[in-house]
Amino acid sequence: MRVLSYAPMTISDAFPVLVNRLSRVAHAMQFSNGLNPAQWEALRYLDRANRYSSTPSALADYLGTTKGTVSQTLIALESKGLVRRDRCPDDRRSIILTITDLGRQVLAEDPLCQVYAATEKVPESQREQLADVMRSILDDLCVRHNASQFGVCGDCCHLDGGDCEGGGTCGVTGDPLDANDLERICIDFSSGSSVTRPVPK
Ligand code: SF4
Repeated sequence: MRVLSYAPMTISDAFPVLVNRLSRVAHAMQFSNGLNPAQWEALRYLDRANRYSSTPSALADYLGTTKGTVSQTLIALESKGLVRRDRCPDDRRSIILTITDLGRQVLAEDPLCQVYAATEKVPESQREQLADVMRSILDDLCVRHNASQFGVCGDCCHLDGGDCEGGGTCGVTGDPLDANDLERICIDFSSGSSVTRPVPK
């Protein structure tokens, strides 16, 4: 895999080039352990999704793809024993997805862990700042493009009476949330930034 170096360019020129190059390198790294990038991302998602979000349609939304494409991904993961598909007990037409123990074992070898390892020379405070900046960029782009934001309860404007330590109620469903729920990503998450801005041409 070749690493490109760039002549000096403005910061606004550098951003799209670096994001695109990073995403292509990350994409290529994820053809490993017999899985492809979509299958790895589905495993990551299902390992962290909450009870409202462990469905094929939520996964399709997260991956930014169609239900048909997600169905192929799920068939492949199920055939390898990494994901289970069950009928929802409350609604037999709905499917609930669960990552299996084997799926979690495979996820422990996530090739994208190399991305964090590649920052080992960066001081911890700068790593945290970098993560905050990436979250902010993602949040902004999701709002601009009317895409589901996906996030955790602790950062969600719908969380009533809770904090990141535990407890609280979901303002969307009215369900109580425990400490475990608060760490899971949710399709109904909203940062509260509801103004839809036009996509620049
Ligand atoms: S509080 Fe927000 S993130 Fe948490 S379950 Fe409700 S909608 Fe989802």
